[in-house]
Amino acid sequence: MGKIITIANQKGGVGKTTTALNLGASLSIEGKKVLLVDSDPQGNLTTGVGIERSNLDLSLYDLYIDSLSPHSVKIKTKFDNIWIIPSTIDLVGVEVELVHRQNREFILKNILLPIVSDFDYLIIDAPPSLGLLTLNCLVCAHSLLIPVQCEYYALEGLGLLIKTFELVKSKLNPDLKIEGILLTMFDGRNSLSRQVAEEVRRFFGKKVYNTVIPRNVTLAEAPSHGKPAVFYDIRSKGSQSYLSFAMEFLNEESIR
Ligand code: ATP
Ligand code: MG
Repeated sequence: MGKIITIANQKGGVGKTTTALNLGASLSIEGKKVLLVDSDPQGNLTTGVGIERSNLDLSLYDLYIDSLSPHSVKIKTKFDNIWIIPSTIDLVGVEVELVHRQNREFILKNILLPIVSDFDYLIIDAPPSLGLLTLNCLVCAHSLLIPVQCEYYALEGLGLLIKTFELVKSKLNPDLKIEGILLTMFDGRNSLSRQVAEEVRRFFGKKVYNTVIPRNVTLAEAPSHGKPAVFYDIRSKGSQSYLSFAMEFLNEESIR
């Protein structure tokens, strides 16, 4: 049975997609079978593994709207052990088209049901909002991984995210856990960055991973080459930090 991890934070540009890409890629290097699920209409995860969105016949949107098999929509990427359910801008429509559908928070859970046992990890990249798409991502997941950018206002909005997590846990998905909090875009020369990291650790304690992702240009460049950074330049600081993070993630999991 695969583990479903949703990467969410309604704040934009905090490193959700970069984390989905590079955690997925790092786990694949460890021999794990990974399904990436692009649940953001921006489709950055899809292009990040080298898939041209305009060439897609089917995407996550079609799974939301029609009762198709996820097997017919998933794509094998050019990387060993990594598959993806891609997204396109059509996915925006879900938020409005499904407002009256019964059990609309459970659609993604039902979509993934027939495919979950084929993988070790299913990593879902949520959009920067707390709407229906993100709710679906939380309802189907075993755990929530929260990237937090080491910048001013980092903690703003986290309260609401945790509240949403609690609500989903109490009403819709009692087994949902917080996988952990990952500090991203850390700049050790910047005292604000250090302060934010300290504050997040003070607030969330052991939930915060020891590994910190530094601000690193390779992480930002790699997606434009259609590759996760760990496949673009494995020696870069950014890649090495995600590889360390994946090891910490796997170790933490075996303890729990
Ligand atoms: P959105 O909310 O729009 O989906 P996001 O939370 O998924 O954004 P990313 O797309 O992963 O965030 O990152 C935002 C931008 O910052 C991207 O251009 C990405 O390449 C860049 N970036 C992410 N992490 C790092 C890092 N550690 N160092 C440098 N650049 C980074
Ligand atoms: Mg994103």
